[in-house]
Amino acid sequence: MLRVFILDGYVDEPTCLGVPPYISPYPRYIAGAVWDADPHANVSYVTIDQLRNDTSLLTNFSKSDILVVIAGMSVPGRYLSGFPVSPNELISFLNNISKPVKLLCGPAARYGFGMSGGKPVTATDVVKNVFNIIAKGDGEIVISELIKNNLNSEIIDPSLCRPNPKAIKNFAVKGARIVTQHPFFPDHLITEIETYRGCTRSITGGCSFCSEPSKGSPSFRAADEICEEIAALYNAGIRHFRIGNQPCIFSYMAKDAGDEEFPRPNPEALEHLFQGIRTAAPNLITLHIDNANPGIIARYPKECKRIAKSIIQYHTAGDVAAFGVESVDPVVIKKNNLKATAEEVYDAITLLNEVGSQQGANGLPELLPGLNFVFGLDGETKNTFTLDYEFLKKIYDDNLLLRRINLRQVIPIPGTRMFQIGEKNIRKHKAAFQHFKRKVRQTIERPMLKRVVPPGTLLKAVFAETYEGKLTFSRQLGSYPLLVGIPGVYPLHRFYDVKIVDYGYRSLTAVPFPLDVNTAPRETLEAVPGVGKKRAIRILAKRPFHTKKDFINALDNPMIAQAIGDYIRLD
Ligand code: SF4
Repeated sequence: MLRVFILDGYVDEPTCLGVPPYISPYPRYIAGAVWDADPHANVSYVTIDQLRNDTSLLTNFSKSDILVVIAGMSVPGRYLSGFPVSPNELISFLNNISKPVKLLCGPAARYGFGMSGGKPVTATDVVKNVFNIIAKGDGEIVISELIKNNLNSEIIDPSLCRPNPKAIKNFAVKGARIVTQHPFFPDHLITEIETYRGCTRSITGGCSFCSEPSKGSPSFRAADEICEEIAALYNAGIRHFRIGNQPCIFSYMAKDAGDEEFPRPNPEALEHLFQGIRTAAPNLITLHIDNANPGIIARYPKECKRIAKSIIQYHTAGDVAAFGVESVDPVVIKKNNLKATAEEVYDAITLLNEVGSQQGANGLPELLPGLNFVFGLDGETKNTFTLDYEFLKKIYDDNLLLRRINLRQVIPIPGTRMFQIGEKNIRKHKAAFQHFKRKVRQTIERPMLKRVVPPGTLLKAVFAETYEGKLTFSRQLGSYPLLVGIPGVYPLHRFYDVKIVDYGYRSLTAVPFPLDVNTAPRETLEAVPGVGKKRAIRILAKRPFHTKKDFINALDNPMIAQAIGDYIRLD
């Protein structure tokens, strides 16, 4: 029997996320390609974090026929529940494994290993002695050929790509069940779904830093094929989905894609897709989107308003349309062929605020824009930071809502125009970037967070992921979840409803709701508005309380006790 191991070293690309709690399409398509070629094959999936924690898994790798590694970070990210594999880890884990055909795929195989913003990528060459095949093409097509050719890696073309989206139709459905092997399955796992690849702007070269134009103009997956994949994932037990694997969801099935840089969107196609997803996965818990091109939204407000309304009708609340703004400096926009001017971005933000700012069932607004800025681009000067700040300040002063502001430094990827320019501007503006970041965090992000989720907001179903001292960090599942610190040590890997009590620059402090005053840890009690250190000690000394009246009587100030009553429960 054919034995295949998939080691997921995680991917983070401009149009695809596969760092837990996300699982990217890569391992699913690869498993599907194996099962398509050999329905009886034994396919195992492990994450790099599982391997880090249990190196005895290497013994199983040694017994396999094919070992596939998925890896590559081509955009810098911040992670809580896993970190992408480094080339050195791959060398130390896999160097002595000789039996299986070892295949590397994903962005690391194509562009090298990006490890953090502002730093050059480590060339794929460093791992060339570890792997038999470095698949610069599509891993699922390469492995399919490898199996058809009796695992003869010598004759396989590593640059094989899918000729069209139909080529992955069966793989996407057949490979869906691999998700059951993910350590976060089922409750804490989000499947990233692809609707197309390639960028409409590739006809003008695209943005200077982005790898997506190398995939050409969009090749769309048919809505029915996407829904078949979603049905297979749903039947396997998945309840969380993100339609995130494409450059702009508003451009899905745009009729003039391939001819026009900014094609007119197709609201009917989006309605059909989202309706189909709901039919395929009727009791899904999360349905979010990701990237959206503000240049498209500003040019076609009527169509995009319809699309945003369709998304809101079928999605789940707390959704984010991530706008790749990169910079509002006209010089930088021109030199890097960016997608939208400051005015266009402003218009797109306003449109989404009009349609999506109402509070949804999970406590967050339905659909808001998030802004991504990239620093270190060609043409950047100190004035770029001033212009970007003034733009953000205007958004804030005009009472608009943003769900997130992401400030990153570029990773110059081979094959992009930024690769020639490298880290020159990053080095030059290192101090200016740090200063800008601090200023935005303090004067815009924190107050904006307070506007988006005011004090006392009830956030539903945050999942406890990790501890830092006596703080339990948790997040909702979905696009760009807010980081919520719960004072106290609470059992991990469970969901909690929480009420917001305070704000950090990029995180919230919240207490479980309703709070059981008879069992709550001291740190949590202290964080409840109006309690503080002294009253928390008094509560601890006098509990258990049997009625709310007992509790109010036990406190020094009945007025405060009433206010605290909004947060507590007495069983
Ligand atoms: S619009 Fe720019 S950033 Fe977005 S996918 Fe196209 S080239 Fe990349």
